[in-house]
Amino acid sequence: MTTHDLVLTNGRILDGCGNPWFWGDLAIQQGRIVEIAPRGTLQGKQTIDAAGRFIAPGFIDIHTHSDLTILVNRPAESAIRQGVTTQLIGNCGMSPAPTVDLDYPDLRLLWGSISDQPEVTWDWGSFDEYLQKLQVGGLGINIAALVGHGALRLAAIGFEDRRADSNDMWIMKDLLKHSMQAGAFGMSTGLVYPPGCYATTEEIIELCKEVAQYHGMYASHIRGERETILEAAAEAIRIGREAGVPVQISHNAPKFGAPCDASANLRLVEEARANGQDVTVDNDVHTDLAPALCDGLPQYIEDLPASEITALLRDPVKRLEIRNEIVEDRKPAFGPVGLLKHNQWQRITMLHAPRNLELIGKTIQAIADERGKEPFDTYFDLIVENGRQADAIFDYINESNIRLLLQHPAVMISSDGEVLAPYGALNDPIPYQPCSYGEFPGVLERYVRDEPVLSLQEAIRKMTSFPAQRLGLRDRGVLREGAWADIVVFDLEHIHDRATNLYPHTYPFENYPHKYPEGIDYVFVNGVLVVNGEQHTGALPGVVLRHKTSR
Ligand SMILES: [Zn+2]
Repeated sequence: MTTHDLVLTNGRILDGCGNPWFWGDLAIQQGRIVEIAPRGTLQGKQTIDAAGRFIAPGFIDIHTHSDLTILVNRPAESAIRQGVTTQLIGNCGMSPAPTVDLDYPDLRLLWGSISDQPEVTWDWGSFDEYLQKLQVGGLGINIAALVGHGALRLAAIGFEDRRADSNDMWIMKDLLKHSMQAGAFGMSTGLVYPPGCYATTEEIIELCKEVAQYHGMYASHIRGERETILEAAAEAIRIGREAGVPVQISHNAPKFGAPCDASANLRLVEEARANGQDVTVDNDVHTDLAPALCDGLPQYIEDLPASEITALLRDPVKRLEIRNEIVEDRKPAFGPVGLLKHNQWQRITMLHAPRNLELIGKTIQAIADERGKEPFDTYFDLIVENGRQADAIFDYINESNIRLLLQHPAVMISSDGEVLAPYGALNDPIPYQPCSYGEFPGVLERYVRDEPVLSLQEAIRKMTSFPAQRLGLRDRGVLREGAWADIVVFDLEHIHDRATNLYPHTYPFENYPHKYPEGIDYVFVNGVLVVNGEQHTGALPGVVLRHKTSR
């Protein structure tokens, strides 16, 4: 009998393809799964007893924003502790490469304060150089990347609100082509954010035709996820049809203000699929988000320096103009703005306000009542008083929509979070990111174990083989002989997400600051143990995955 490097024994194996578990031993050798056999039949130099636990493919998080935070925390703490072994970065139109200038100021502005961390050196130009930068310093997880349309548009046009002319198109296509050749898995857009919101549908179709040449995908934060959600989903589907690319509609839960529940946008996806178009969806299971209050301002203002924003809001005429623009929402703003537009001030709870510490934990409605002012004015006043540092928790998604999405076969599970760590620069100030710490264990705890919204095997499929299929990764996301040994061993009975606040919030906020989940016992990346008994081993076996057609 062969003695393998390492054998996992006594566990219930979930292959990731949606099949129910079976008893088995699994052997790892040189990074790969080399044998799967009946329980108790394999021998290893090292054996891990997975009694009482499930053995599944490592989770693949298809929607994240770790592009720069992974440079600051290469062990990828908040991801690996959840059992995530691969992340797709570059979503919502945002990637830090390519740049046309070493110190491209617009791109730094787009990425905000993370840009200033010493590890974020901005010493790459091309997409290829950025991917090399990721790999050279070592990674706790595997990383696959999309190229962001925002980076391309900034390189050609900056933050200007205008159509791309033929010269701009030439610049964007050239950068896109080189990024695809370097191994980008496709292109993403963020059509509610600057500069993506200034692009026409035709511009994106033309760029996606370039993506099609390399068999990449189109992932989109669509042009509005509230009032315009159906038109916006239809636009994404049209882009895929006319350019000949598969479409991934990102975090597609209807946000407060949508005229329909999630079944309406899912119907559009079903129709497209019935017509032979490969359209899929991802979603995370959190009902809230905690952006800066000034992120709710109209797009052309939100990225201005704090002093310019407060100057605008101090001018009563401008203030009224801005208020009208928010309510009209002609260029649909991102999801949370629905709460401003529809006067849902009781659903916005202050999280950070350095100049008004006594207000933390109170809703804007309650603050307005105390001050005897209108809530809209209170919202503006809080920005004037705290600048960019005022953040609030916006409860903007109805949980019933999360269930509808979870149960649909064309929807996979993503976090929409980023690599974080409860220490160092990524924890100062402490971000409100329950999804970054608890997405996958939270689904298993709340929607599989405690309430049977999903079967275990279906939940695992949506976290593993399905996103792998979307990315064209044929040797990850499944447990079978020959596949890379990206593996998570978890204890379903004791799994516990220690990061999620359930609405309505009580202050001090439950589970905030965040903690790692419980019940994720062992995590392997490329056959190397990165989490051992709920501890990070310090190993950095992750690789930068490059899209196959580029080779
Ligand atoms: Zn997004």
